[in-house]
Amino acid sequence: MNLNHFYKQKYAGRLAILQAQLGLDEQDLELIARSRTIKGDQIIENYLTDFSIPEGVAVNFLINGQEKVVPMVTEEPSVVAAASHGAKMTLAGGGIQVQVTERLMMGQVLMAKVPDSDQLVSQLTQHETEILKTANDAHPSIVKRGGGAKKMRIRKLTHQFVSLDIFIDTKEAMGANMINSMLEAVVTYLQSDLQQNSLMAVLSNLSDECLATATCQIPVTSLTTNQLSGKTVADRIALASLAAQVDPYRAATHNKGIMNGVDAVVMATGNDWRSMESGTHAYASKNGQYQGLSDWQVVDDNLVGKLTLPMPVGFVGGSIKINPQAQLAHKLLQINSVKELEEVIVSVGLAQNLAALNALVSEGIQRGHMHLQAKSLLLGVGATNAELTQAQLALEKVPVMDVRAAKQVLKKLRNEGEINE
Ligand code: NDP
Repeated sequence: MNLNHFYKQKYAGRLAILQAQLGLDEQDLELIARSRTIKGDQIIENYLTDFSIPEGVAVNFLINGQEKVVPMVTEEPSVVAAASHGAKMTLAGGGIQVQVTERLMMGQVLMAKVPDSDQLVSQLTQHETEILKTANDAHPSIVKRGGGAKKMRIRKLTHQFVSLDIFIDTKEAMGANMINSMLEAVVTYLQSDLQQNSLMAVLSNLSDECLATATCQIPVTSLTTNQLSGKTVADRIALASLAAQVDPYRAATHNKGIMNGVDAVVMATGNDWRSMESGTHAYASKNGQYQGLSDWQVVDDNLVGKLTLPMPVGFVGGSIKINPQAQLAHKLLQINSVKELEEVIVSVGLAQNLAALNALVSEGIQRGHMHLQAKSLLLGVGATNAELTQAQLALEKVPVMDVRAAKQVLKKLRNEGEINE
């Protein structure tokens, strides 16, 4: 296959090459054309088409006393329903309260094979003012907005590494690009004025000086089910939270559940979910072992939940301004700042976690999931909307719900002509 200089081709040229070399047919081309946008070419390289993932809205959120409708982008059934359910559970205790720290993102200039780290630390410390000024001079517009490089820290690492950490207030942006350009200016200064070479200079995605903490307090009586007392459910949720503190295997799934909600909002608002993911999982290891990010305890007849997350997200920056769907998300959320976005993201994480733990320790996770799973399976084997309700009911009764069973259920309903419009 010859794809030399593929990136130099205009859109039509790229498409023609793919068509010729990969045997794309009319149907493929029609699919590519249908989802193609002009913006795509401006955002990424070798643009082909847009990939569509469903967007839904979670409801029942009361965050710092304000009702919120939350757009969520996800391919996973039950995530939006669970977030709405978890949020509803918090209403019995007045919803979710959120506090955010100041927004200091961190960039690091990493120096390797340092022969005398004490000498380097002393030299860098002496030049702190110049280093911060150099960083700020490289991006004066963020300084005008009240942001910029605020402080630095030096860490001596093993294997003769030294990290010069610079903390930058990036205001409404996530700040990756502005941090990287500020760091590169610092690298030049270190070389020219201090004769110090670096291995690399780049932001750290572990933004642990930009945190949001959501809490809720739910009367245990409101957790009562047909089978279990509210106090039993609350105690079991607290135990589940403890299990995620002591076992990394459990913690990984516990945190995946939190990220089901977090990523969906991060994506809906046009943010970088890889940054959110890497930052969050690194933060989950802050005590030296990977742990669950949330904490649930029973205190005085209340289930008290708490979740703290790093927030490498932006209200502007990246492709957010030119992405109309990100702008729509801001409108749906009724937010005007990154602080408000942080409040929503961490609240969705907490609600998602509550819904998952509640299901796991009471009825089990599968009951809720299977209804939606049945729907996905049936749509996958060609069920129409008119067939769906009855087919779903039938499929949920079979002992093993899989593609084969979905096909059989659909075939039976069609043979029997049992479909009611
Ligand atoms: P941008 O590079 O787009 O920078 C932010 C822009 O927003 C600047 O141009 C700034 O203008 C403008 N702006 C307008 N109003 C404000 C305000 N109130 N506060 C702050 N900025 C404002 O985006 P980021 O630097 O935020 O970078 C985010 C992107 O970087 C993401 O797409 C991410 O995927 C990507 N990225 C991520 C990396 C990582 O996570 N490791 C690495 C590299 C890139 P002005 O220039 O006038 O200041």
